[in-house]
Amino acid sequence: MGYRVLTGEIAHETNTFSVVPTTMEHFRRRVFLTANEIPARRLGTRSEFGATFEAAEKYGWTLIHPVAASANPSGTITSETFETLAGLLLAGADGGIDGALLHLHGAMVTENYQDGEGEILRRLREKVGPDVPIVVTLDLHGNITEQMAACANALIAVRTYPHVDYYERAWQGADLLQRAMAGEIKPRTVIAKRPMLRGLNGGRTQIGPMRELIERGAALEQEGRALVVSVCSGFTAADIHDIGPSVTVTTDGADPTGQAIAEEFMDYAWKTRDYLSVSNHTIEDAVRHARDGEGKHERPLVMADVTDNPGSGHYGDSTNLLRAMIAADLQNTAFYAIFDPAAVQAAIAIGIGNSGTITMGGKHDPSAGGGPLTVTAQIVTLSDGKFQTFGPMGGGVWRDYGPSALLRVGGIEIALITNNGQAVDTAQLTSLGCDPTRKNTVAVKSNHHFRAAFEPLSREVITVNGGALGAMILRDAPYKNVRRPIWPLDPLA
Ligand SMILES: [Zn+2]
Repeated sequence: MGYRVLTGEIAHETNTFSVVPTTMEHFRRRVFLTANEIPARRLGTRSEFGATFEAAEKYGWTLIHPVAASANPSGTITSETFETLAGLLLAGADGGIDGALLHLHGAMVTENYQDGEGEILRRLREKVGPDVPIVVTLDLHGNITEQMAACANALIAVRTYPHVDYYERAWQGADLLQRAMAGEIKPRTVIAKRPMLRGLNGGRTQIGPMRELIERGAALEQEGRALVVSVCSGFTAADIHDIGPSVTVTTDGADPTGQAIAEEFMDYAWKTRDYLSVSNHTIEDAVRHARDGEGKHERPLVMADVTDNPGSGHYGDSTNLLRAMIAADLQNTAFYAIFDPAAVQAAIAIGIGNSGTITMGGKHDPSAGGGPLTVTAQIVTLSDGKFQTFGPMGGGVWRDYGPSALLRVGGIEIALITNNGQAVDTAQLTSLGCDPTRKNTVAVKSNHHFRAAFEPLSREVITVNGGALGAMILRDAPYKNVRRPIWPLDPLA
């Protein structure tokens, strides 16, 4: 008789500075699947669920999978939405379970709970008692808390940014859970933090302290000194008490080694807190650089506006960069994207091949990244926005950006989308008939995830300060709830 295992996904990275509250509608637009809809969409993919279904097969588990829900990062989650999702997941434990393997994010904030994941885990722990193992996979951008560490047996964060190892981490969690359910091990997790708002190079794993600590953690796992070492850089666009980088260490039983490792790692994170491997260009510099390169190269310059990154809960409709690109009359250029459902409808009304006037973007907060932009455009493509991911991050999972259009304004092809999302996959452009590999310049809205798919095809990558919501948070630091003192808001030795 196999173990009864509860699995499920509730994932959201909450930007508490966004004016857009997150509701069930936001989850429905990205991922909201229940019960048997989940294997239908996830079996055979290189996703967390893909791994979990395979592990259930291998270990003979009876898998209970009530819900898979993830929304594009956006504002605080409404209480009603949180209760709906948490209720669905927790009801999965009603018939009794032997263990749980949950796929969460770690930076979810709701109207009532600054620590959304901690609250889910607290309720689950209360329901199943102290002896049922709970293993959780996380994003390394989670703001991890004492409550999460106390209520779960193991926390396993991804080790890549761009995140391309969800599948591997879910397998690691599955193997650990199996050993725990069989009574071979009794995993316990401890956490260390420092008074840091940010650090660890924003989680970038190519170079610097984040990479060093992840490699050291993996080595400790190999040597058997810890079951899991997870390094999280945190998420800065969250006005919560427990913001910031963390290290969690899972050992077999309560073992002081775990806390010692976590503290030593965080000492290093504190010492290297200033380290940053990227610096942003101004819009003027970026556009000039793009124009200077025209006709000289076979591969595109990829430039990313990191201040209007829908992947960090920014609005995705900032127009500053696009306005400057049009003014400079850039040629053979692609732009992804302006999130504006009404503008898509205007494009549909104009029709493929026709030209017309469209006003797009700048609608959420014109003071953050520029107001609405009016252009005369030709409609090149219209699409329902559904396609299978191609690049390393998507795992072959289908995505849905809603009704979408490709416009041509001079030498620039502009994607308009109905469901907000950052540029992470070349299929976001190719599904609209735009081949990024043949462009001189490809502009995207993304902080770092775009690199997985777009850096290999580029001649050069630069990041741009487009003056949108991300720039405002950095400049104004409008935090009220973070614990104080904290670096870099307060002077700390
Ligand atoms: Zn992340």
